[in-house]
Amino acid sequence: MSTQRRRIDTYLEQLLDEDRFAFYRAVADFGDSEIAPHLLGWEREHRLVPDDAIAKMGEMGLFGLPIESEYGGQGGSQLDLVLMGLALGYHSHSVAITPGAATSLGSKPLQLFGTEAQKRAHLPDLAAGRRMFVFGLSEPGRGSDAANPEVKAVRNGNGWVITGEKCWSTNARWASHVVVHALTEPSGRKGHRSTCFLVPMNARGVTYGEMGGKMVWRQSSTGSISFDRVEVGDDAILGALNGGFKVMAETLNGGRLFVASLAVASTAFALDKVATYVQERIQFDGKAIGRFQRVQDVVFELDLAVEQGLTWLTHLLGLYAKGTLTREQAAKVKIACSRRASELLLEAMEICGGVACLDEFGLIRHHDDLFVTRVGEGSNRALMSQIARPLLPDIVKDLQ
Ligand SMILES: Cc1cc2nc3c(=O)[nH]c(=O)nc-3n(C[C@H](O)[C@H](O)[C@H](O)COP(=O)(O)OP(=O)(O)OC[C@H]3O[C@@H](n4cnc5c(N)ncnc54)[C@H](O)[C@@H]3O)c2cc1C
Repeated sequence: MSTQRRRIDTYLEQLLDEDRFAFYRAVADFGDSEIAPHLLGWEREHRLVPDDAIAKMGEMGLFGLPIESEYGGQGGSQLDLVLMGLALGYHSHSVAITPGAATSLGSKPLQLFGTEAQKRAHLPDLAAGRRMFVFGLSEPGRGSDAANPEVKAVRNGNGWVITGEKCWSTNARWASHVVVHALTEPSGRKGHRSTCFLVPMNARGVTYGEMGGKMVWRQSSTGSISFDRVEVGDDAILGALNGGFKVMAETLNGGRLFVASLAVASTAFALDKVATYVQERIQFDGKAIGRFQRVQDVVFELDLAVEQGLTWLTHLLGLYAKGTLTREQAAKVKIACSRRASELLLEAMEICGGVACLDEFGLIRHHDDLFVTRVGEGSNRALMSQIARPLLPDIVKDLQ
């Protein structure tokens, strides 16, 4: 990569105050020196993010960014999380999502809905990276239809018995606990049938296996977690009884901003990579391919997507901080940034030619990883439908 200043840095410096920009740069420097030089080796050796890299991110406080300082965190905000996503996602979604999912999906439901005792028991270790929680929403038979889990929790004396399977669980390999979204009131109203339980991964009846054959986010752990009559007490309930879907849905609002940051990070990487390459690639009469206007069009589109994505995200982060961000707004930015980034990555690869197929060139990694941003944390198509339906009030009854 060229030593030229990153285009994303120019925009961020305008959008952020001095402290936030310095924080972003510190994480970006860490990514450049501690992550980028090793990525290719990890990929070719089919390794997950190594434990020592996770430990270093823990030392930097990346697992405690949005956790209040009274619980041992950095006392930061969702903005810090997004800045980490931009800084680390520039090189690798797999690396960024490790502290990203641990915070925006793992510890966040505890911050939002935990009792004081639950927070005191877990947040300090989560903030230090000594523990990780997994967000257990998706199941083999339930993805977009997340309000109707097949995993069940049945009353048994003073406690509960949980049975079933969760899948696509990010960070399962390193997890200490899983937040299980389970059916507790089958005849309840939609959205009021389920409860979240905080279950230790070493509880009797819990088994985990890494999902094999995954060709995206290849250094990220993605597990399948089974529950065979796992017994927990009432103190394992996170949030309200039969209020589990609210816990999951509110957590996802912030998570979708993080996913959008990964899409913008990939676009920013592609912009710098392409801008460098098309000036260096000489063809036809000893001139660079960057002189072709169609090549310049792609450079322009990438640049526009980075600036618009960052401006939109920082606006929505302001709303998140005020507590006024709506589900539709969080979903829209994820949908738009992920679609645009994945479409542009293909164009970016095309104008670089065959070299774009090489792992060492970096673009194909972003292209493949961006697929997850289109389906993860709510499939784009399902979210688009949720946003569009209320806009069609005359026929919405027929659509449900
Ligand atoms: C790498 C990776 C990591 C993940 N990490 C986690 C995690 O940590 N925790 C977790 O709980 N989940 C996780 N997920 C799961 C992810 O959230 C789901 O894949 C996502 O919710 C979609 O569910 P599905 O894959 O079952 O697709 P389905 O629900 O089967 O949907 C398939 C397709 O059908 C269409 N569709 C479905 N419903 C509708 C609708 N209502 N309107 C219009 N179209 C629709 C869409 O095109 C959709 O893409 C992860 C997934 C991946 C790939």
